[in-house]
Amino acid sequence: MFKRREILKHLTALPLVGGVTTLVTGPLQAKSLLSPARDYFKELGVRTFINAAGTYTSMTGSLMLDEVKEAIMYATQDYVILDDLQDKVGERIASLVKCEAATVTSGAASAITLGTAGVLTGMDEVKAGQLPHLKGTGMKTEVIMQKAHDIPYAHALKNCGVNVIFVETAAELEKAINKETAMMFFVNANNFDGKIQVEEFVKIAKKHNIPTMNDCAADVPPVENLWKYTQMGFDLVCFSGGKGLRGPQSAGLLLGKKEYVAAARLSAAPRGNTVGRGMKVNKEEILGILAALEYYLSKDHEQEWKMWENQIAHIQSAVKDIDGLKSTVDVPPIANHVPTLNISWETNKVKISGDGVKEELRNGHPSIEIAGGGENSVSITTWMLVPGQERIVAKRLGEALTKASV
Ligand SMILES: *Cc1c(COP(=O)(O)O)cnc(C)c1O
Repeated sequence: MFKRREILKHLTALPLVGGVTTLVTGPLQAKSLLSPARDYFKELGVRTFINAAGTYTSMTGSLMLDEVKEAIMYATQDYVILDDLQDKVGERIASLVKCEAATVTSGAASAITLGTAGVLTGMDEVKAGQLPHLKGTGMKTEVIMQKAHDIPYAHALKNCGVNVIFVETAAELEKAINKETAMMFFVNANNFDGKIQVEEFVKIAKKHNIPTMNDCAADVPPVENLWKYTQMGFDLVCFSGGKGLRGPQSAGLLLGKKEYVAAARLSAAPRGNTVGRGMKVNKEEILGILAALEYYLSKDHEQEWKMWENQIAHIQSAVKDIDGLKSTVDVPPIANHVPTLNISWETNKVKISGDGVKEELRNGHPSIEIAGGGENSVSITTWMLVPGQERIVAKRLGEALTKASV
């Protein structure tokens, strides 16, 4: 199903200077299937850069793989009925990630809104047309979440008109559940920040028969997360398509129970009188995310991890001997779970701020974006690099910090 041989032919082990071994995937192939005749970004005067920061919407997410671009190009050539395509792709995705049902959304935030809408309306199109107004409609009005999970993206719930009720402890949670409770919302990345952790959260919801949603937007790798949380018992799970999966940036996945995924579709395009009409995905995104997911499931994750470790080690080696500077390689436990180089320094020995280093890398040629910043630290990931770019990042970062050290 994954055409493993096809995919492997795009993978080549490449030894690099400094003993760094790297893996060449789609985007580095010199002649991609799409080499546009116009240099639009240059023409427009829009800066392009090497992304050593990570998957940020503000930085346009990730680079789509050639497999994804091929699927998108394919999709441009024919008309289909949008609902037919969502039906079939949803079935395929559900079987790939071992859940009951799936649908393609325009991102994880859209999956949150559409999933919430589905839980509120059930299979009632009149109710879908009434959202985001809940009063007097017979729909429930409250979603419960932990205070420690209150991230900006939780606004996606409020698009459906619900009141978000915040709790801290399991006892508070059980007390907060009432006849207006439509759903319990969990942010996977914040699991260890809250007092109620993921399994206990599901257990409490089951006890009270309340539907649950888990926002796992940035939570691949590891690949198992694609089925871990639906199998744990979450009714709905949301993923971004344009982060670790490297599908279209305007795509996401809503996974879970058939009854809720089907109901969520009532609030999605092509239906017009809905909260989700502005979150349209077309055949291009739908096939694009399918191709990205199939590729992701078939790839050698261990090999990719080793490549990231080697890239990070190469960058670390360019700065680690600087006096007064400390560098560590950390892996966030959930979300953006990739080797991350954290660098900090004593500003009396390295006379530049973290923001200063970021500025310098941004303003140089080629421009480079890194994460962190502030007074005396920066951080770097390599998963969004085109393999080979780690050498440029190492050199430029080494120069910036060495020059500032006294
Ligand atoms: C990125 C992110 C989102 C939004 O995802 P999109 O796919 O950009 O809509 C939501 N929740 C969390 C935790 C995220 O990291």
